[in-house]
Order: sequence, then C-alpha cells, then structure tokens
Amino acid sequence: MIKGIAASSGIVVSKVYKLEYPDLSVEQKEATPSQEFEKLENAIAKTQSDIRSIEEKAVGKLSEEELAIFDAHLMVSEDPELVDQIKNLIESEYVNAEFATHQVASMFIGMFESMEDAYFKERAADIKDVTQRLIAHILNTPLPDLTLINEEVVIVAHDLTPSDTAQLNRQFTLGFATQVGGRTSHSAIMARSLEIPAVVGCGEALWSAHHNDVIILDAVEGRVYLNPTQALIDEYASKIEKFQQRKERLKSLKDAKSETLDGHHVELVGNIGTPNDVHSVNDNGGEGVGLYRTEFLYMDASSLPSEEEQTLAYAKVIKDMNNKPVVVRTLDIGGDKELSYLPFPKEMNPFLGYRAIRLCLDRTDIFKTQVRALLRASVHGNLHIMFPMIATLDEFRQAKSFVLETEKELKSEGVEVGEYKLGMMVEIPAAAMLADQFAKEVDFMSIGTNDLIQYSMASDRMNEKVSYLYQPYNPSILRLIKLTIDGAHKHNKWVGMCGEMAGEPMAVPLLLGLGLDEFSMSASSILVAREIVRSVNYEDMKSLALKALECSNEEEVIQLIKENVTIPLN
Ligand code: PEP
Ligand code: MG
Repeated sequence: MIKGIAASSGIVVSKVYKLEYPDLSVEQKEATPSQEFEKLENAIAKTQSDIRSIEEKAVGKLSEEELAIFDAHLMVSEDPELVDQIKNLIESEYVNAEFATHQVASMFIGMFESMEDAYFKERAADIKDVTQRLIAHILNTPLPDLTLINEEVVIVAHDLTPSDTAQLNRQFTLGFATQVGGRTSHSAIMARSLEIPAVVGCGEALWSAHHNDVIILDAVEGRVYLNPTQALIDEYASKIEKFQQRKERLKSLKDAKSETLDGHHVELVGNIGTPNDVHSVNDNGGEGVGLYRTEFLYMDASSLPSEEEQTLAYAKVIKDMNNKPVVVRTLDIGGDKELSYLPFPKEMNPFLGYRAIRLCLDRTDIFKTQVRALLRASVHGNLHIMFPMIATLDEFRQAKSFVLETEKELKSEGVEVGEYKLGMMVEIPAAAMLADQFAKEVDFMSIGTNDLIQYSMASDRMNEKVSYLYQPYNPSILRLIKLTIDGAHKHNKWVGMCGEMAGEPMAVPLLLGLGLDEFSMSASSILVAREIVRSVNYEDMKSLALKALECSNEEEVIQLIKENVTIPLN
C-alpha cells in the first residue's frame, strides 16, 4: 500500500498508464548565437502553438479560471524577462539554446520554489511546464500526448502539469496518482474541478508502477495499491458500490433543508477563493457564501487590483448567489500571505504582526479601493462585509466608520450603494472573550478556527513540528467557541464558523449543539454536513456539547462524539 493525500474523492480499480517524460537533460555546448536564436525562436513559436491547441481542447472541460492558466503560460513563453535572459546567455557565453533555456528556467524556478507562499510555489510549476516544452522543441523530442489515450486508465505521474491535466480525456482517464503535490497543488485543484479521483503526494514508491499494472486508487482514504490481490480487488468492488450509493444519496440532498430531526435549522454555506468557485457552492446546495477570501484577487495579480476589477469580481459572486447571503472578507494579507508587489517589513513573528485589518487601517489607500468596490457591488444582492483579525472593539469601530465614510463619499459622487451588513471574524482569543461586547456593535460574527486555534495554543499553523497542537476538539477551544456564540446570541446576532473545523464531519454535531448558526466550508463538504445535520436531534446535541465542555482533553471529546453520534464517513 502506498499512502498519499486524497485530493479529489473517488475510488477506482483500473490499469496504469505511466506518464514518463523523455530525457530532457541538456549539455553545455559551444554554439553560434545566430543559429541558436533561430532554434529558440522556432521553439517558442511551436510551444505557443502547442499551448493554444491544448487550450482549445480544454475549452468546455475546464472553467474560465482554469483556462486562464494557459494565458499565463503564453505569457511565460513570451515573457521578456525570461526570453531576454536566455538570449543574453546565448550571446555572452556562446552556449546552445537548450542549455541557456535550462539555466535561466532553473534560476526562475528555484527563486519561486524557495518562496514560502503556496501561490508562488505554483508559479514555479507554470515556468517548469512551459520551459520543458520549449526544451523539448529545441531538442526535437516529442512530449507524451495524453489525448491519444483510448482505453480506461489511471495515470501515474511524477506530477501532472496544468497542460497534462487539460489534455486528459475524461472518458478514459478514471483517475490519477502523483508522486508529488499537496491538496492545493495545481493538479489537485484541477482534479477536483474535473471531478476525477486523485491521490497526490504518493512519494518515490509510486514509481515502481509499470504500464498496464493493475491499480487500486482509493482517493477517499488517500491510498494506492499496485497489483493487488484478488481478495483486495473484491473488497474494493463493494467499497466502490457503497461510495457510488453515498454519492447519489448526497446528491439527493442538494435542495433539502439543513434541519435536524427536531426541526432546528442551520445554514450550510461555502468558502470560496475566486468568483468561479461560486458554481460548485451552488451545485452542492450551498445556502450562501460564508467566506470569500479576497486576498486571492490580490495574490493572483501583479499589482494592486483596481476598484473596477474588484467591483466586477464582487458583483459576480453576489449576482451568481442570487440574493443568498455572501460574506466577503476584506483583505487578509500578511502572515503567510505576501504580495510580490507590496514589500512587507521583515518581522520576527509575522502571524502576530502587521497583517489583515491592522494593515488595512494603516494603508487606508489600499483599504479604500476595496471598500469602494464592495459598496458599489452591494446593489447586486445580499452583501455582508467581514473584517479579519479583529482584536479590539476600537479596531472594529475604526473599520466600521471607514466604511460609513466611504459610503457617504460614494453617495456624494452620485454612486448608488445597496444594503449591506458589517461583521467580524473571531479568530483572536481576546475577541472571543469579549464577544458579548462586540455583539452589541456588529451585525454578525464568524469564527476563524484556523487562526483561533493557533493563537490559543500558541502553535504556528505553518509549523509541522507543532501541528499536534492544532486541536479543534480541545475543550479550551470549545469553550472559546461557546463564549462567542453565547455572546452573540445575547444580542440576537448570528454566528458562523468559516475555519476548517466547520466542515469536519465529527465537528458538525458538536458545533450544532453549541448553537452555531452558520457553517461555512469547502463546497465538497456541504452535502456531507447536511446529511449529518439531518440525522441528529438538536436537543441531544445540546447535551452532548455541554458534556464536551466539561471534558479534560481532546481525546475525551472525540470519544464522546463517537459514542453518541454515527458519522457516515463513506
Ligand atoms: C481562519 O483563520 O479560520 C480563517 C478562516 O481564515 P484563514 O484560514 O484565511 O486565515
Ligand atoms: Mg484567519
């Protein structure tokens, strides 16, 4: 058994198609610059025509946003920084085109890979993808063509580049397994949007696979079996059947109410990172958007996005949600999320530093553009504006009056502003402790457990060595959640949760019992959560939650849930 990360759920038994790239290693040779320039120019032209034809094949299979990857690839292929540096090297060192391309590409890839930020690491994948193709054309060595696959297979690869993924024929590609990658790598994201089961990050062991080997791809548990026994294949046949039945059952809940057996209603909504993610929230029966992380709009750009661009993005989400509530979080940059074009001061503890609302209240020029865009988009539906990382009431008051001032300013310019609500994230323990005071002034709250846990446990969420302290079920965290919910309810305000905890099947009954009103999670978790909500009794969950608050550690809470609630895991 090979362990990996389940990136896109599903189970298949099939045979292996091993995606192996030709040897594109290059040697340094002495060469005449004019000839090498010609080779390079030809290769660039061929690379660009490949990218365009792959993109054409992918139209209809991929979303607009994913197709945009190919525009990014075209841009890489004509990027003067890259092309000029290759040419300079050819000219100054009299080296061959493939060697110069390799050298310059490695430099850029190394630079992006060494950045902390996941977004920039992904850019390294784009450059690798394009320059590999470029070198293949310079060397006249064809790359494998996945469009030629004409029988059912599971693709086994080191990694799948965006262009590989776009070429996949869904009729024949039943799934894929890769050696590298995590849940947020390109291939994982593409797999989810194509709904192809995928296990990524399987490591070296995966490479022992051969063409036509039998493979079980268990993208529920994150496992791969090569040449399994007949007994295991039979076992998996029944797992596949159960998985399909569950999928059908969940689909039937798309328009069902998120209501417990005794009639207590909650809202199950989606977390999104880009406007296009709204479709999967709707497809999975989401009752709104509980967290739109607007920082991606900033991270995907090469300069601060303009008011116009932002208005378009926010309006699209609000319109596509058709009057359902949309919670847009204002810029949460800093900490682990940096912007290439906005230099940040180096800090000893960036997570405790200049970030999110702290930065926005300081850089009011940046904040102003975003707030203007949000208010302009408010006319299209049900907008909720949420401030991240609020620690003190004063910060909330400042942010609120900034929005009210901006509203006045827009109206004085004759710009229409619609209705909207103002809320805050509760992700700093100080805010949780004082929730009843905040609740007098906010319209709503949403608990950000990802940060609330790291700050409560003093455990950096990026540091694997202390990841054991990420303990959502620890009674200390549950008590902070309870304080927040009770504080908000005291003043008749609703409370949601948009940290990862809200979508954890085991946490749903507990949070329900604690009185949480809104659960915001990745779209693919919504129907699972709905099934759980509909299978339990609110009154029972209330007493379960009370008992959990009295436990002394996380294990006891988990045990308590397991003893009292049946969580369908598959
Ligand atoms: C959180 O902290 O729980 C949260 C939802 O915000 P982010 O993960 O974007 O910091
Ligand atoms: Mg957070």
